[in-house]
Amino acid sequence: MSQTNEKFLEVNNLVVEYITGKQVVHAVNGVSFSLDKGHTLGLVGETGAGKTSIAKSIIGVLSDPPGKVRSGEILLEGKDLLTAPEEDMLQIRGKRISMIFQDPMTALNPVMTIGDQIAEVVALHSESGNTHEAKETALEMLKMVGITPERYDDFPHQFSGGMKQRVVIAIALACNPELLLADEPTTALDVTIQAQVLEMINDLKEKLNTSMILITHDLGVVAEMCDDVAVVYAGEIIEQGSKEDLFDHPAHPYTHGLFGSLPSMAKGQKRLHPIPGLTPDPTDLPKGCNFSPRCPYATDACRQGDIPLTELTPGHTCRCCNLGHLEKKEG
Ligand code: SF4
Repeated sequence: MSQTNEKFLEVNNLVVEYITGKQVVHAVNGVSFSLDKGHTLGLVGETGAGKTSIAKSIIGVLSDPPGKVRSGEILLEGKDLLTAPEEDMLQIRGKRISMIFQDPMTALNPVMTIGDQIAEVVALHSESGNTHEAKETALEMLKMVGITPERYDDFPHQFSGGMKQRVVIAIALACNPELLLADEPTTALDVTIQAQVLEMINDLKEKLNTSMILITHDLGVVAEMCDDVAVVYAGEIIEQGSKEDLFDHPAHPYTHGLFGSLPSMAKGQKRLHPIPGLTPDPTDLPKGCNFSPRCPYATDACRQGDIPLTELTPGHTCRCCNLGHLEKKEG
C-alpha cells in the first residue's frame, strides 16, 4: 500500500458476523487496510468473499440484526466510526462517505423525480437546508453526469439502466463526499456504457480529490482505476499491495489463480479467472489457511494455526506460509 503519514481511512482487525438461526456466518475475519486521501483501493475476490460487508461496515449500513460488527476499528481521520453516535453517522453518511450500490433500481425511489432525489440529499446535508440552492446543485450534478437539466422532473422508469446509474452516481457525489464506496458500479450496465460511466467516476473523483474503495470483478477496471489492490478470500485479505505489485508480482496461489497468466496490466482482461473448487462454508471455515481445500500447494503446516501476513516488499503483504511454491513450480 502507499506509504504516507496521512492515513485518511484505517480499518483495523474488522470482524463482521451474520446470525442466521443458530448459525454464525463469519463474513469478515480480521480485515485491516488503510487508504490515503485521493487514492483508490480495489477490493477483488469472488462473490460472497466479504467485500460488500466491509463497505457496508464503513458506511454503517449493516442491518443489525442479523449483520453485526463484532470487533475492530474503522478510523476516518482518526475518529472511530464504529463507536460514533447514530446522529453523527447520519451526518457522515452522504456528506463525508457515499456508496454506489450495484443495482441502480434498488437505490432509486420509483415515485420521486430524479432531480428531487438529488436535491433531497443536498438539502439534508446543507447547513441552510435551502431548497432553491439544493435544486441548483442538483441541476449542476445532472449536468456533471451528462444528463440534460430538462430531465430533472423525469422519474426513474423513464431512464435506461446506464442513465439510472448516472443518477445514482450524481446522488452519491452530490455532497462532494471525501470517501466513495463503489460496489460493482458498472455490473448492471451494458458493456458499451461501462467505460463511459467509469471514466465519469474517475473524472469526478479527480476533480473533487475523492478517496475511493472500488469493489469489482473486472481486472481491466482495477488496472484503469486503482492505486492499490486487496484480494479478499473467505473474509480475509490474503494479499495486498500496489496495483503493480499484484499484477506483476502476485504471490498468493489464489491471486495467481484469479489473475491467471496475465500480461502486465492487461487491459483486455475482463473477468477474474474461475478457480476449481468452492469457497469454504462461512459458517464452518477450515482450520489454518482458508484456501487450503483448493490450494495445489497445501501441506500439513497450512492446516494448523492461523496464517500470518508476510511483508514481501514494503507495502506488499501476503497470507501464505509456503511462499516457495512459485519458485518450485517455475523450477
Ligand atoms: Fe496454499 Fe498453504 Fe499458502 Fe494456504 S498457506 S495458500 S494452503 S500454500
